[in-house]
Amino acid sequence: MSQQTVNGDAFENLLHEERKFPPTPEFAAAANVHEEIYAKAAEDRVAFWAEQARKYLTWSKDFDQALDWSEAPFAKWFVGGEVNAAYNALDRHVENGLGDRVAIHFEGEPGDTETITYADLTERVKKAANAFESLGVRKGDRVAVYLPMIPEAVVTMLACARIGAVHSVVFGGFSAEALRSRIDDAEAKLVVTADGTYRRGKPSSLKPAVDDALAEPGHTVEHVVVVRRNGQDVAWTEGRDLHWHEVMEAASGEHTAVGHDSEHPLYILYTSGTTGKPKGILHTTGGYLTQCAFTHSAVFDLKPETDVYWCTADIGWVTGHSYVVYGPLVNGATQVMYEGTPDSPHQGRWWELVEKYKVSILYTAPTAIRTMMKWGREIPDKYDLSSIRVLGSVGEPINPEAWMWYREVIGHGKAPIVDTWWQTETGAIMVAPLPGVTATKPGSAQVPLPGIAVDVVDENGKPVPNGHGGFLVVREPWPSMLRTIWGDPERFKETYWSRFEGVYFAGDGAKKDDDGDIWLLGRVDDVMNVSGHRLSTTEIESALVSHEWVAEAAVVGAVDETTGQAVVAFVILRGEAEISESDDPSAILRAHVGKEIGPIAKPKHVLVVPELPKTRSGKIMRRLLKDVAEGRDPGDATTLADPSVMQQIAADLRK
Ligand code: ATP
Ligand code: MG
Repeated sequence: MSQQTVNGDAFENLLHEERKFPPTPEFAAAANVHEEIYAKAAEDRVAFWAEQARKYLTWSKDFDQALDWSEAPFAKWFVGGEVNAAYNALDRHVENGLGDRVAIHFEGEPGDTETITYADLTERVKKAANAFESLGVRKGDRVAVYLPMIPEAVVTMLACARIGAVHSVVFGGFSAEALRSRIDDAEAKLVVTADGTYRRGKPSSLKPAVDDALAEPGHTVEHVVVVRRNGQDVAWTEGRDLHWHEVMEAASGEHTAVGHDSEHPLYILYTSGTTGKPKGILHTTGGYLTQCAFTHSAVFDLKPETDVYWCTADIGWVTGHSYVVYGPLVNGATQVMYEGTPDSPHQGRWWELVEKYKVSILYTAPTAIRTMMKWGREIPDKYDLSSIRVLGSVGEPINPEAWMWYREVIGHGKAPIVDTWWQTETGAIMVAPLPGVTATKPGSAQVPLPGIAVDVVDENGKPVPNGHGGFLVVREPWPSMLRTIWGDPERFKETYWSRFEGVYFAGDGAKKDDDGDIWLLGRVDDVMNVSGHRLSTTEIESALVSHEWVAEAAVVGAVDETTGQAVVAFVILRGEAEISESDDPSAILRAHVGKEIGPIAKPKHVLVVPELPKTRSGKIMRRLLKDVAEGRDPGDATTLADPSVMQQIAADLRK
């Protein structure tokens, strides 16, 4: 492990990775895209995207201009074109004779199942479109969606898209307050919710949060449509509340989809709020769908006739929008949708589903992989996972050892792993290996996709040479880019376009390794400065996870009188870790980091904790750990998946 100290680097380049896994010749030969695609896209980026737009989508009116960047940073893609998202995801597959193909294998947490074909889904969406129109929802109106992972969520989103209403999905785990602020910000006319869902074998409710959210007057909501899911009793506001099954029964199954302008708003989605106040990210239609469909095909190598795809993300996150709803359905994929948690009723539930449905492409998050590592490999080892041929990762940097575990235990050493970097704001994948082309590398997202101008730059916006760290930026507009922050164009310019002139600033640190591959190093806000050395949270966390005892690690910089900041690490041990009485895990792990990275990166403290604070999308909330490490009372913990985690950690620290 070498250590470089280069002034001006936003991050020092500390960890080195030598392992590489090229695709097998058979995989490469049969892949959807090949090496040439990079050169082709580089020749004329905008023409490349125009070609994808016409290849992946059926336009009811062709576009005249691929990109209008004259009012930068406000982009217009496929200007003059008209396209209907729901038609592309549904009707056209039925018209092409694929009505009997399964669109969704739904599996409820209690074990109830539903098999929904493209013909079924199309009919349901037509009815929902008519139903919403009959409730006064018009093109451009906003609809708040507060639903669990059930087929009605997909139906609602596509029905909105069909009529040109703008959906705003609010994660079902969010509080009444969070829901209300999002309803108000978007001025939603309709709310679609359910009585409740199931969580770890128990009913959990949703409708009461909607009632609470709407209790104070002054909102814009006219109706609340309620899906019956867990059958629990719910309060009812006559005139406002309607049963989903009743409005759908009354609705006609005939509905013609008309094309909407390519730049017509498709949805608003609030970012997860890992770093601050959520932003209402606005996505529009033509460009967004193009990049979702292209990336879903190229990055996962989707073969719609034979693959069974499963993305474990909730529809409350952007991954659920782009890679459960829009990308897969536009591409005519067959997918699994699962309502519940991975440990209900047992810790093998996911693998049982992979075996049952013969899942061939699995897309999940590092937090889930690390949790499975913690539970131990004997659980997945009990199931037949031989159907898996591509594995994906998204949401956080995946530590090289978690990547290796994913490859060996879940992919049996043969399925390529695609580590996909993107954001709510980017709408679709931006940096990822192509599974039939790239020799993959544990821990690195590696290469910008064809047609995507991602770079790593220094403080002055100059590209860093290989072997150096800096800021991740996007130099050129891309089709699925956010168009603005809802209602706040100034904040849009200020947040993303003011750090570097004319360039999109993602807020993430990254480095280019000696091969020019990109590594994500964590949020720029989380960079640590220890005795003048700028250290990445991700690299130290990865060094910790590379120790056989450690399942998860979170690292923060805490104020320190002598060094400016000191590295403080929080670790969760693996279930199978064999630690004897005489071992001092803290000392052993400090020494391990020193050996893997260098003395400068050695944590001052390593604290073994039972859990880490995470957002509901599974991202580690380092901000709260920093509060604890600096002896402050952790601030607002309400967006945590489990708010009691912080009390546990604070209590442990006082011991
Ligand atoms: P907020 O912007 O409100 O703080 P958020 O950034 O957590 O919330 P998302 O848009 O869901 O909301 O997450 C995008 C971020 O997730 C990226 O900016 C990056 O930090 C991280 N991320 C996503 N995928 C990867 C990946 N493959 N490797 C490394 N980091 C990733
Ligand atoms: Mg973000």
